Amino acid sequence: MKKVDYIIVGQGLAGSVLAYQLLENKQTVLVIDEEKENTSSRVAAGLCNPVVFKRLTKSWLVDDVLANAKSFYQQQEKLLGEQFYFDIPIYKLFVDEKEANFWKQKSNEPQLFDWINHKIEHPFNQTYLDHKFGAAKTLQSGYLQTAKWLNHFREFLKKSNCFLSSTFDYSKIDFKKDSVIWNGYEAKQIIFCEGYQSIYNPYFKWLPFKLTKGEVLTVKFETLKLDAAINKGVFILPYNNNYKLGATYNWSDLNEETSQKGKDELIKKATKFIKDNIEVIEHKAGVRPTVSDRRPLIGVHPQYKQLGVFNGLGTKGVMLAPYFAQKLVNCLLNNEQLPEEVNINRFKIV
Ligand SMILES: Cc1cc2nc3c(=O)[nH]c(=O)nc-3n(C[C@H](O)[C@H](O)[C@H](O)COP(=O)(O)OP(=O)(O)OC[C@H]3O[C@@H](n4cnc5c(N)ncnc54)[C@H](O)[C@@H]3O)c2cc1C
Repeated sequence: MKKVDYIIVGQGLAGSVLAYQLLENKQTVLVIDEEKENTSSRVAAGLCNPVVFKRLTKSWLVDDVLANAKSFYQQQEKLLGEQFYFDIPIYKLFVDEKEANFWKQKSNEPQLFDWINHKIEHPFNQTYLDHKFGAAKTLQSGYLQTAKWLNHFREFLKKSNCFLSSTFDYSKIDFKKDSVIWNGYEAKQIIFCEGYQSIYNPYFKWLPFKLTKGEVLTVKFETLKLDAAINKGVFILPYNNNYKLGATYNWSDLNEETSQKGKDELIKKATKFIKDNIEVIEHKAGVRPTVSDRRPLIGVHPQYKQLGVFNGLGTKGVMLAPYFAQKLVNCLLNNEQLPEEVNINRFKIV
């Protein structure tokens, strides 16, 4: 029997960040992942936007989570010898005068001083990018090249003998008094980080996910060149000499298949303000682990203390994962209370 402190199921953002933080705390881990291509984490553009553009409010907990996330990914860059996290402003392109005025008014609010620039600009070439009502940018925003980081981190886990490429079979869990056995491994606890696939987990399928499929395109423009991200109904993000164009939100068609409808929707929204030829290079889809109350799902199973969960990162996994993985580690190792609003005990098993 091989012994580890924790078995982690899933090597998306949640499982990876948690695994590293446990390793840093001198715990041994086994991370199990079935190495699928179209997972939410791998498909994500990886943007960290400190504001919610629709209402122009601060993103939830941004003061606590953003700097923490950035420093976590920079630490990964030192460990793995590659750059994964990039600072980039996100320009909001206004659809009318009213929206530009709203930005001006909100930028006077002290709680937004650190996150949005007050100046309304015309920073792009009007021939290729229609922004006649102006644009203004976020401060301290950035993006993580998620698939690149996850690939490098997986290699690190493999080299450290901490990774098993497999589909986790729930029927093989054998509960002992203070441990759990799975497939020849004994651990203190199994922490499930399966993203949306948690709905198939017999121990956690009662959690109130409200899943959202998302599609993203990788595109090239004939002439347009951007060194900032932009948003006008959809976002365009400069990415490895091309651009990411996204994303769709679909609450009914919950699968990882790309669709013509998704592609058409993104192109239609983009061509409303981009006056250039758009060539589609790649098209991807994933399912976001979004939750009915829009808060993460973290904690220990109310009946099986050997099982835990780190999930529900929703649309903001890049920013939220490092901060909340730390909270979970403090709970597992030091018995610290999890914040009420993310603890799974806010829901009842049904
Ligand atoms: C189109 C799109 C765009 C997005 N854009 C952004 C963005 O710009 N910024 C941002 O912060 N977030 C974005 N997100 C959301 C972000 O991707 C999620 O918040 C985050 O990736 C969730 O990570 P996770 O690890 O919980 O889940 P996942 O990424 O789904 O990872 C779960 C992992 O577990 C594995 N797994 C599951 N079940 C099993 C099993 N039984 N056995 C073995 N392995 C298993 C899966 O294969 C997978 O690798 C976007 C999502 C989508 C779909």
